[in-house]
Amino acid sequence: MPDHDDHIQHTWILTHPTGDEVTIDLWTDGESVRVEGGQGESTDGGRKDVDRLIEKYCLRGYWVTAGYEVNDPHEPELPDDRPDGCPECGQPCEFVDLYDSGTAEGPAWLCTGCRWRVWSVGI
Ligand SMILES: [Zn+2]
Repeated sequence: MPDHDDHIQHTWILTHPTGDEVTIDLWTDGESVRVEGGQGESTDGGRKDVDRLIEKYCLRGYWVTAGYEVNDPHEPELPDDRPDGCPECGQPCEFVDLYDSGTAEGPAWLCTGCRWRVWSVGI
């Protein structure tokens, strides 16, 4: 296990009366969940899996002794090819991860005014 915790968003520590300890980490991607100790589960179901795992271990006699934020959730990076404004109407453009034009899907900049769109290649 790496020492650095840049990828961890939230950690829960569960302790058993025998002294056994289970650590549950939710990663900053909001999806990856890793269990240290216990059965060492690893899933990518995010917060709902954390709740499920905590419930599971609590049923086995563990209780949550600590739970704390480690890092802020990862903010999606925006590509740097943002248009200055819509060439059609001048309104700002917003980034859409997966735009569906009907014939193609992909990251795109979408005008907040007239819905003019340009595909993004920035990331
Ligand atoms: Zn526009």
